[in-house]
Amino acid sequence: MNQALNRLSRRLTALFSMIFKVAQRQADHKQLTHHIIALNQKQSSRDIINEVALCLKELLNYRLFAFVVKKKKAVDVWLDPRMYKKSLEEIILNDFHVENKNDLNYLNQTFHPDDQEEKFNIKDLVFYEVSEENCYCRIYMLPQKQWYSHHDDVVNLILQGCAAALSQQVKIENLKTAAVIDPLTGCYNRREFETQLKRNMAGAIRHKTKLSVFLFDLDHFKRVNDTYGHLAGDKVLQEVTALVQRNMRTGDILARYGGEEFIAILPETDKTRAMELADRLRIKISNKRIVHDKETITVTASFGVSELTPQADMTRIIQDADTMLYRAKLNGRNTVMPGVIKVLPSNSSERANTLVRV
Ligand code: GH3
Ligand code: MG
Ligand code: MG
Repeated sequence: MNQALNRLSRRLTALFSMIFKVAQRQADHKQLTHHIIALNQKQSSRDIINEVALCLKELLNYRLFAFVVKKKKAVDVWLDPRMYKKSLEEIILNDFHVENKNDLNYLNQTFHPDDQEEKFNIKDLVFYEVSEENCYCRIYMLPQKQWYSHHDDVVNLILQGCAAALSQQVKIENLKTAAVIDPLTGCYNRREFETQLKRNMAGAIRHKTKLSVFLFDLDHFKRVNDTYGHLAGDKVLQEVTALVQRNMRTGDILARYGGEEFIAILPETDKTRAMELADRLRIKISNKRIVHDKETITVTASFGVSELTPQADMTRIIQDADTMLYRAKLNGRNTVMPGVIKVLPSNSSERANTLVRV
């Protein structure tokens, strides 16, 4: 991959020589080559974009206002930190057809408060764009110096170098993601779960905080495949895991443990709260209607919960959850073990729903 980037650098260098003819331009050429080489050595999108901003400022005295990179669905945005965020955000949302501003992933988070908003005339804003095989980049700038005809070429060259570096970055990110994520459900895979459990257990022991785990398995899932087909089964797995993830906290971790078996790490959560969460999820799963090929599918799940104890090691906490899951299956499925605790006053009208620890 590096060879490809070096080839591109050489190609760009040849092009620069044609563009920069006079002495001043030759100095610019040297600077530009230096920046393009630097771009290829950057390790993160943010560093690449910072290099572009520096290059534009040095060579053309252009001020880079915003840099947007679209990779598949994600839209990464870098904004000049001196800028008032809102003024460009609307333009970007509109240009990239993004409906919700929360879907923009800001690479830099430091913006001036509202009262320091910098005004600019939208007509002065120019943008350049370039596409690579796995990303599309667009830069928004405000030229602050007299415009010369070679500026277009310079900006396009910078952008090409930048897109090549970013594309390389995206490939590395994709490889990293593929190594830890289950492709069907988007949950962590089992290997990553083990890494995360080790890390979270060490944290819980160090900070003397609680940590719980729950394991759940879809009930009679073979029947779903047999009745509706394997694709329908896949869709059920995707929708159930999405539902579970939506209802967990940000710091909770969900992983695919086996075929239709999933495991969650709940940091700073004791067993009672873990069982309550598991039971809420159990109810949500059983109420979920999954539509596939005009058929409506419902499923249930059985849960086993365990908590980190002073003696527990990683194997033990998983074994405990597994034992409880086994008991949940024996107990008729669609249930949480070791039992949901919901203490209600004896005269409560909800008394019929009261469950006690098993
Ligand atoms: P139990 O309530 O005891 O868990 O019964 P079950 O039918 O869910 O369990 P069993 O282990 O007999 O079957 C699990 C099924 O899950 C069989 C397997 O083909 C299916 N399965 C595992 N992974 C996938 C997957 O990725 N997609 C689909 N569609 N099915 C899967
Ligand atoms: Mg099952
Ligand atoms: Mg199973």
